[in-house]
Amino acid sequence: MSATRTNPDASPDIRDQSDRPSREEAEAAVRVLIKWAGDDPAREGLIDTPARVVRSYEEFFAGYAQNPRDILARTFSEVQGYDEMIVLKDIRFESYCEHHMVPIIGRAHVAYLPRERVVGISKLARLVDAFAKRLQIQEKMTAQIADTLEEVLQPLGVGVILEASHQCMSTRGVHKAGASMVTSRMLGTFRDDPSTRREFLAIVGHPSGFSVSNS
Ligand SMILES: [Zn+2]
Repeated sequence: MSATRTNPDASPDIRDQSDRPSREEAEAAVRVLIKWAGDDPAREGLIDTPARVVRSYEEFFAGYAQNPRDILARTFSEVQGYDEMIVLKDIRFESYCEHHMVPIIGRAHVAYLPRERVVGISKLARLVDAFAKRLQIQEKMTAQIADTLEEVLQPLGVGVILEASHQCMSTRGVHKAGASMVTSRMLGTFRDDPSTRREFLAIVGHPSGFSVSNS
């Protein structure tokens, strides 16, 4: 897909869908890939596979239909003076490597230090999913989650850590199962104040040697 943007100024996250192929075209493409793999898309076991794959794609890539900023739009200001860190840790996510289109499975830890507004905690998980359910690289996804939180909530600081295993590394290529990639983005107080960063890392249970210096 050409992935042109509807309006580069308004929302970089909603793609122009005007050149989206039809469901039939998508199913035909799956039949081509089955043939390319060496099998017969007309045999009984595979006859309904293209339709199933296309339906699965609607689930795998549901993030393209979501505007991550909208997810955070409803905020609450009555927080009784709460001014400590808010952390949602161990948010499981399933994403898809944009280079090989195979799963990236991992956990996200998302934190912010509110300035005055907070968001419902489930919205942090939905924000992760809105970016995960796309073709991704982990570094970009980490930055997108952090930057969107910063932009919409304008908190004092944001911390995002993603740990994930990449099936493009475990099931192909170098075949290293069990390796996990860790990425982080720290903004505001999470970047500038070592004690805030330490508190976040302690809450998510990271080894003390984990470096978050310039990310
Ligand atoms: Zn890959």
